Amino acid sequence: MKNKFLVFLTITILLSAIVSASILIPVNEKAKEHAKAPEKSPVITETASGEWELERVDFIHYAKPEKPGMPGKTETCYKLLGVKWNVLPVDYVINPTNSGLLEEFVTNAILTSAETWDDATSNELFENVYTIDNTAQYGVQNFENALAFGNYPDANVIAVTSIWYTRRGKQIVEFDILFDTDFTWGDATLNPELMDLQNIATHELGHGIGLADIYTSTCSAVTMHGYSTEGETSKRTLEQPDIMGLQKMYGI
Ligand SMILES: [Zn+2]
Repeated sequence: MKNKFLVFLTITILLSAIVSASILIPVNEKAKEHAKAPEKSPVITETASGEWELERVDFIHYAKPEKPGMPGKTETCYKLLGVKWNVLPVDYVINPTNSGLLEEFVTNAILTSAETWDDATSNELFENVYTIDNTAQYGVQNFENALAFGNYPDANVIAVTSIWYTRRGKQIVEFDILFDTDFTWGDATLNPELMDLQNIATHELGHGIGLADIYTSTCSAVTMHGYSTEGETSKRTLEQPDIMGLQKMYGI
């Protein structure tokens, strides 16, 4: 019996690897806890081998557009990824190491960013407290939502958000955010030469909850617009389309 099961498991894994680039993640208690579906939500089914198939998608936030965005054909200035969190609130871990900033500044900026989204929906979207962990890493799939600083190979990239979601059920189970240390981070209201941490964190957390980038030039004022520059602080506050997208997923 055991051997047959192993053969079946191996075939299942091989087939999955061939068919797609998805990652097979062993079931663990944390995954189950995070992906527990409320009664009316799509039911998450486990594969026959008892493992979960997770998809990963990366959002790369560039400093400058290669070519200017085309004017939008519609007035819709938000885009849903089609995946969302089903179990709220979402908790997160901050690693202020390598930021070049005081820990308190980093945590305040990120907490304010998270609460900006939270305040625009009646749901308790983000946990009101965060965890500081100086070992938390970007890009490690461990069901921990990590925000960290590090050197991204492309110096024109301001930040990257990766999200992992279940292929079945479309539930986000993790996001990780990397702030590129090629930039000098800080409070751009005090110095416009700095990359504003709260500004970028608000944008990146928008990916973390299920919003896509918007590139049309008519939508350049929204928080989910895909480009930023030093000194920009307009993404700190949400515009109506950002709020509409948020509320489509998490309620008014
Ligand atoms: Zn983005």
